[in-house]
This record gives sequence, C-alpha cells and structure tokens, in this order.
Amino acid sequence: MPQTAPKTTADRWDAERAASLSPLEGLAYRSNLLGADRAVANYGGGNTSIKVTEPDHVGRPTRVLWVKGSGSDLATITADRFTALRLDEIDPLREREEMPDAEMVAYLARCQVEPSMPRSSIETLLHAFVDAPHVDHTHPDAINAIAGAADGERLAAECFGDEALWIPYIRPGFLLSRQVGEAVAANPGARFVILAKHGLVTWGETGEESYRATLEAINRAAGFLAAKAPEPALSGEPLPVESRRELLRAVLPTLRGAVATDGAAKVLVADTADDVAAFAADPSAAEVSQVGAACPDHLVHTKRRPLWIAYDPASDDHEAVRERIRAGVEEFRAGEREYFERHREGDETIADTAPRVVAIEGVGIVGVGRNVKAASLSRDLYHRAIAVMRGATALDGFVSLDDAESFAVEYWPLELYKLSLAPPPRELEGRVALISGGAGGIGAAIAGRLAADGACVVIADLDGDGAARTAGELGEVAAAVAVDVTDEDAVAAAFAGAVDAFGGIDLVVASAGIASSAPLAEATVAEWERNYGVLAKGYFLLAREGAAVQRAQGQGGAIVFIGSKNALAAGKSAVAYSSAKAAELHMARCLAEELGPDGIRVNTVNPDAVLEGSRIWDSSWRAERARAYGIEPDQLEAHYRARTTLKVNVTPADIAEAVAFLASPTRAAKSTGNVINVDGGVPTAYPR
Ligand code: ZN
Repeated sequence: MPQTAPKTTADRWDAERAASLSPLEGLAYRSNLLGADRAVANYGGGNTSIKVTEPDHVGRPTRVLWVKGSGSDLATITADRFTALRLDEIDPLREREEMPDAEMVAYLARCQVEPSMPRSSIETLLHAFVDAPHVDHTHPDAINAIAGAADGERLAAECFGDEALWIPYIRPGFLLSRQVGEAVAANPGARFVILAKHGLVTWGETGEESYRATLEAINRAAGFLAAKAPEPALSGEPLPVESRRELLRAVLPTLRGAVATDGAAKVLVADTADDVAAFAADPSAAEVSQVGAACPDHLVHTKRRPLWIAYDPASDDHEAVRERIRAGVEEFRAGEREYFERHREGDETIADTAPRVVAIEGVGIVGVGRNVKAASLSRDLYHRAIAVMRGATALDGFVSLDDAESFAVEYWPLELYKLSLAPPPRELEGRVALISGGAGGIGAAIAGRLAADGACVVIADLDGDGAARTAGELGEVAAAVAVDVTDEDAVAAAFAGAVDAFGGIDLVVASAGIASSAPLAEATVAEWERNYGVLAKGYFLLAREGAAVQRAQGQGGAIVFIGSKNALAAGKSAVAYSSAKAAELHMARCLAEELGPDGIRVNTVNPDAVLEGSRIWDSSWRAERARAYGIEPDQLEAHYRARTTLKVNVTPADIAEAVAFLASPTRAAKSTGNVINVDGGVPTAYPR
C-alpha cells in the first residue's frame, strides 16, 4: 500500500557553490534548494529574505531587506525577482498596533529601493520583524500535518519542546508579522516558529543555518509523525490502473462541460498515481477531503475543498458517474455562491464557482483550471494537501480554516493581486484542439498558431515521432498521438488521448493530407482508395469521434476541414484527389447542418499550392504537378504565384490564420458551413 503521509527531506546544500555567490545570488540559491522539494515549498508558496547593508543610489550605506517578489516560485526564482526595501524605513512600523493591508502595501511600496522592482511578498513584514539576517518561511507537509492537527499546539510542544514557538492561526498580514517578530525576540532559545494551520518560519546568521533549520524542523516533524502516529493502512481498494483511465475517459468530457463557466473553457489534468488513488479509495476520504484547505496558500488555487464524486464500480455504470458529476458541480456552485454571500463584506467580486479539484473515489484527483498551468497547480497543491491531511489525521484529526477564515484569505485583495499578475486570458484559453497531420507543414503551423492563441493542442499524425517532436517544441500545452486517420479504432484512441491529456476537445482540425495526380487512364484503384481513405473516410472519422466528445461536453465547438482549391475548381489529371476533396467539402456542409443544433460549427479552409514546409510537396506530387503544367519542378512557386489574382504565394501561416479565425468562439461565433479560400485568388475556385 503506498504511503501518503509526509516524509523527510534531503539536504541539498553545496557549501562550495554557496561560497561562490553574492549575498543576493545566495538567497536565490537557497530559495531554489527549498523549492526543489515540493514537500518543503509549494508551487508559488513560501518566501525567503536576507538583510544586508549596501550602498543606495547616492552611495550611502543602507540597511536593506531583500525579499521574494510577489508571484514568484522559490523553485525557479532568480536574483532579479527579489525586491529590496530600506529597513530604516520599515523599523518604525514595529511601534504600530495594527495596519490595514492597503496601507501596508502602499507603505512598503515607498520603502522599495527601486520602484521598478516587483512588489514585495505579502509576508514581507514577517521577514523584516525577525531580526536575524536570513529568514525562511515555508509551508512544509510534515510541519503542516502538526500545524493542522486538532491538538497541534500540544503536539508541536511534544515534538520540538521549547525550540519551537506556536502562533495561533490568524490571516497573514501586519498582525501575524508582528506576533512572529515579538515571539522570536522574547524567546532567544527558540529556533522555529510554527504558524497554526499555515506553516514554518526559520532564521539564521547565515543562509546555510536558516536552510538547515528548515530541514531539521521538517525531518524532526516527519520522524515524530512516523513514531507517534504510524500511518494507518489505507483500506479501500483503488481501481486497477487501466480502469482508472477508462473511467476518466468516459466522464471527463462531462466534467469539462460542467465546470465551464459562462463559456470560459477549462483544462482538466488528472493524477491517478497509486498514492492518490489509494487516498481516494479510503472510506475516510469522502469526509476528510471536505474538512478544508491544508494551507491558506492553497485556497485561491484549490478552493476550500474538492468536489467529491462517489464511485462504486460494482453498482455504478459510467452514466451514473456522469449524472453524479453534473449534479455535483451544480451543488458545488450553489455552495460557493452561498459562502460568498454569507461572508462578503463590501464590493468583492465572486470568484468562479466551479470546483478547482475533483476527487473521484478509487480513481484519483482532477485539477481544473483556465490553462494547463493553473489546472496542474490545483492538482499538485492538492497532492500536497493529501500528505498533510493524512499526517494530521493519523495524529489526532485534521483541522482547517473555518469558512470565515477561508473567505478572508480567498478574497484577500493581496492574494487576488498575486492572481492578477498572470497574463490576461487569450482568445482560445482553456480550449483544446486536435490537429490531424499536425507534425509538419500546414498542420504544424496551425498547431503553433492555436497554441499561441492559448489553446492546448493535440498533435495527431501518422508519423508519431514527428508528432512528438512538434508537441515537444510547444511544451506543456501540447500532447502527441500517433494515428492513422483511416483506422476507426485509431481515431477513437486519438481522441481518448486528448481526453487523457486535457480532459476533452473543443476544436478538431482535419488537416492530414496526401495528394497524387495521374491522367484518368493511368489512375489506379489503389491511389483512388488511398485518397478517399485519408481525405474522405479520415475526415469523416475525425468529425464523428470529435463531435462525440464535443457533444458530451455540451459546450459547442468547432470543426475545420482543410480542403483544397481542387474541391471547387475542376483540375485535370487528379481525379481521385480532386473528387475526394470535393467530398470533404460537401461533408463539412452536411455536418454543419447536422451539428449546428449542438453549437458545433463546421467550416472549410481551401488552400492552394502551399509549397513551403509541406511534406506533400516534397514527394512525387511536386514532380507530377510540374509535369502536368509542362514546367520544371523548381519553377512551381513562380508558376503558382503568377496564376493567382493577387500574385502571391500562399504559406502555412496564411492557412493557420484562417483556421484561427474559424476556431474562434467569438469572432466566428456565427459562421458555419462556410468556405474560406486562402489561395491568392483563383477565379475558378471562387465559391458560388
Ligand atoms: Zn505563508
């Protein structure tokens, strides 16, 4: 049975490396080491600082606090993401009894040595008020298992004796900072501060000392947990790995539709690792998961609790789970609205009411977000929460912030400010596109363009290696699947791959192409079947399987066929290719009519003579076309340019532009059954 409770962490300090760094670089180094273990410092969570004396802009020696800038992640932070503040200007604040957040932020902004530096962390004063030159604040799993236990204060005393100070929960801000500073000053023997339901503060004369204090606290806590409360075996049997995936494939599109808010699509990323599935299979999980957040830091990314979906494979079919998801999301949204109304104080704007984490019994968890990054963050923070909950439960019961405390953090302007640092959503944010023939040429250009517009892209191609390469270039927003579009099962599997990666599909771009030309007398049945296999049957299968996922989501969608001038213009010596392209074009119009009631738009882009980057044009097709026109192969670009009305060559980027328009749920919201020619102007192909 996999273990989920907090574990010890490894010492990563490299003395030689540390000695070679400037104080600020050393701070970045130490931060990176803390962030290297997510059980120590969560994504984006925690903050670090140093106090040094350095010359200001006129050369005067100045006492400066360098502290993490808001919105950075310790694991990846670099020296330029820290902010310097004048300590002489912060010191007078120690005399204050309290200070409203807005005033504190405005005050600290004026203490910045350089106005253009990032806004300092919302926990800045905690660092300023502890006198030690090096201070670290983290939210480690092992510490939070104690800090989040019902009898945490007593347990912390039992684990650390006088070496740890306990600060009862209050929301981060001026008062918490002052309490920590005063407690440390009054207890010179103390080495750690444990913030109830929140985290850890350590300090040192050197960076190494502060770093090692964090590690020591964590490892002592983990040892204490192991000795005091050996993790009770999880009972309940998680589903076999294959069944977890099968269930998710059957229900994620439904979930994706349910969590879309006002047409804003979301990405779903699942975690069905054995330890997560085991947690989700335990009979206590339904209850423990609903207690509350494991750290205030998680709240804006996970909400107070996940949506819990019960699943008993013995009695529930997939439709029963889908129904439970639809009802569960509705109920969750209603609960969020009620929570907001109950605790709102002024003119706060209600946050998206959809769950950010969904836990499915015996299967695992699903992160929900406006993009892959946000969804992964929710999922990964919840993975951390499981460790904290398991540890605290084993001790004497997990406790969390109450609703009022949660609201105060979730709707805290300073926490919302961090979120506002993210770039505004792009046009296709949260949407998922599958592009057949996406490994190269027009397909790759389309994938790149849709990704640039914010979409997640699934690169589907007969050339699986090529698909993986193209996806690799696009990073975490792309996945690759190898698919023969003429194979019914393979196409269904490609869409299952899209559901695995991102939870569903909004856009299907059928771009896989082949071409051949031959005079009628020489045209073979094999070539005929190959053209109709890829261009007619292939497009039919992509549309059928894609529309099935789109319908399950119930949020509309778009299908774009990449056609050809030849679909409209009668070309000679390409009977199989041209007539298959015409079939494709007409199929798009028929599907537009059939899928319209579901809000699924089907349109066609007709390119002509896109030679750049095309695999088709590297094949014998180039020589065949040149022969048909009675010219040399290298004269084709000029030939095609000359015959267009606009005297231009058409590039993959031009095609991608038209696809991006038709894919747009706003700009092309009212276009279906349409044809956009992107061919430089070919009069015989003008639609009529
Ligand atoms: Zn904190």
